[in-house]
Amino acid sequence: MRGLTDRQTLETLDRLVDDVEGVDKAAGIGLSVGGGLRDWIESGTGSFLEKTTLFLLIWVGLLLAGCTGAGTGAAPSDLPLATAPAVASLTPFQPVTPTASPDPGAALSPTPIPIPTPTHPTPTPCLTATEVDMSTETFPDPLIISIVYNNLASDARLVTDWGFSAHIQYHGHVILFDTGTNGQTLLQNMQVLGIAPAAVQTVVLSHAHRDHTGGLDAFLAAGSQPTVYLLASFGDPFHAQVSSLTEVIDGSPGLEIAEDILTTGELTSGIPEQALVIRTPQGLVVVTGCAHPGIVRIIERAVALTGEPVELVMGGFHLRDSNQAEIARIVSDFRRLGVRRVAPSHCTGDLAIRLFAEAYGDDFIASGAGSVITIGE
Ligand SMILES: [Zn+2]
Ligand SMILES: [Zn+2]
Repeated sequence: MRGLTDRQTLETLDRLVDDVEGVDKAAGIGLSVGGGLRDWIESGTGSFLEKTTLFLLIWVGLLLAGCTGAGTGAAPSDLPLATAPAVASLTPFQPVTPTASPDPGAALSPTPIPIPTPTHPTPTPCLTATEVDMSTETFPDPLIISIVYNNLASDARLVTDWGFSAHIQYHGHVILFDTGTNGQTLLQNMQVLGIAPAAVQTVVLSHAHRDHTGGLDAFLAAGSQPTVYLLASFGDPFHAQVSSLTEVIDGSPGLEIAEDILTTGELTSGIPEQALVIRTPQGLVVVTGCAHPGIVRIIERAVALTGEPVELVMGGFHLRDSNQAEIARIVSDFRRLGVRRVAPSHCTGDLAIRLFAEAYGDDFIASGAGSVITIGE
C-alpha cells in the first residue's frame, strides 16, 4: 500500500469504476464521482497520504456501492417494477389494518372476506336440489282410475248398483269409460268423488248392454259435450241418438283416443265389445266392461297392438258362470301373458274374484264403487 503511486492509484480507480460501471451504469452516479476524483488526483494537489487515504475510502465506498448495486442492479430496469408491486401489494393492506384493529388477530378479519368463497361451492348442491324438485313436479303424471259405478262396494259413500263405469285421468285427458245403468246414480257417485261431468272430454262405451250405456243420457244432459266412442255393433238408432247430442266415433283396433290411451277395437265373439288400453311406464293397464268376447282374448289383443307388458287388468272379467277349473285356466293364462296385477269386479263373479285373490296375493286389488287406483304415483 505504501508503494502506491498516483499512477497506480489512478489505474486502480479506473478499474474499480469500470467494474462498478457495468453494474451501476443505469444510475450513472459512480461514473460521475469517479471522473471528478480522477481529475483531482491528476491535478497533483494533495499529499500522497491524503490521496492514499482517499483512495482507500473510495475503494471501500465503491465496494459497498458494488454490493448494493449487485443486489438492486441485477435488473436495474426492474427497479420501478419491483417497487410498484410492493406498493400495490401494500396498498390493499393499509385500509384493512387501520380500519380493523392493531391486534394481529384483527388482520384475520379481512380473511373472512373470502368467506364468500366457501359460499360458492354451496350453490352447486342447491341447484341440484332444485333440479330434483323440478323433476318431481314435472315427471309424476300418474294414471288415476276412479270406479264411479259398480255393483261391488268399496267406498260406502257411493251407491252400488249393477253396472260399470270408470273415470280415467291421464296426461291431462279425462275419459269416462262406460256409464253404468242409471244416470242419476252415476252423477251422484261422481259428485261424491268430486268429479265434474263437464271436465270429461271423452266417453268410451264398451258394448251395447244397458248396464254400461244406461247413464249416458243423463250424463250428456249434465252439461258435458264429450266425444263418444261407440262400435258399429251399437246399431244405427243408437248412433243417431248420440250423434244428435255430440260427436260420435267408432272405435277400431289400436285407435288412439288420447295420448297413450287406445281402444282394442271391436272383438266379436258372442257380444261385440271393445276395451281400453292405457300405456304407462309401468306397463299396460287394460280396462274392460264385461269382457263378453273373453278376458284372455282382450288381453292378447292389447299385447298384440302394443307389444308391451301388462301391469294391470281391471273391470268385469265375465266369469260368473265359470267353474273353478275354467277359472284356474284363465288365471294361468294371465300368468302366461305376464299380467302383473289384477282388479276384477262387476260381472267377474264371486268365485273368480276369490281365486284371483288367492293366486295374485298382494298383486290383487279389491275394487268396487269408489275405488281409486293410481299407477305411476
Ligand atoms: Zn254386458
Ligand atoms: Zn256388464
